Amino acid sequence: MSTISDGDHIYGVKGNHVGDYIDGNGAGGPFSEALGIDATTVVLTCAQCAHASRFAETRVYDGAGLVSRCPECMSILARLVRTPTDAWLDLRGARSVRVPLSAGTPQ
Ligand SMILES: [Zn+2]
Repeated sequence: MSTISDGDHIYGVKGNHVGDYIDGNGAGGPFSEALGIDATTVVLTCAQCAHASRFAETRVYDGAGLVSRCPECMSILARLVRTPTDAWLDLRGARSVRVPLSAGTPQ
């Protein structure tokens, strides 16, 4: 077992499993609110390993805000921190963010 750190926490890593997480579907609401679209359909390309995954497939950890990690290499793709008045979205771990145009269509 090795460990990784996101600066605030150190997680034990066994295979691809890092602590307890929820899948992106479970965390879609807060990210959708911040983006103004259905976040679960957005495709994030990892800046570290170039793996592309739908947000719904990422692993989301609830710690210092919500942290979405690449399911392939566990690098941080996105962070979301909410204050009473704002949502702070950090996407620096994603090389690209692909938004299906239908994601913005009102249902
Ligand atoms: Zn990755």
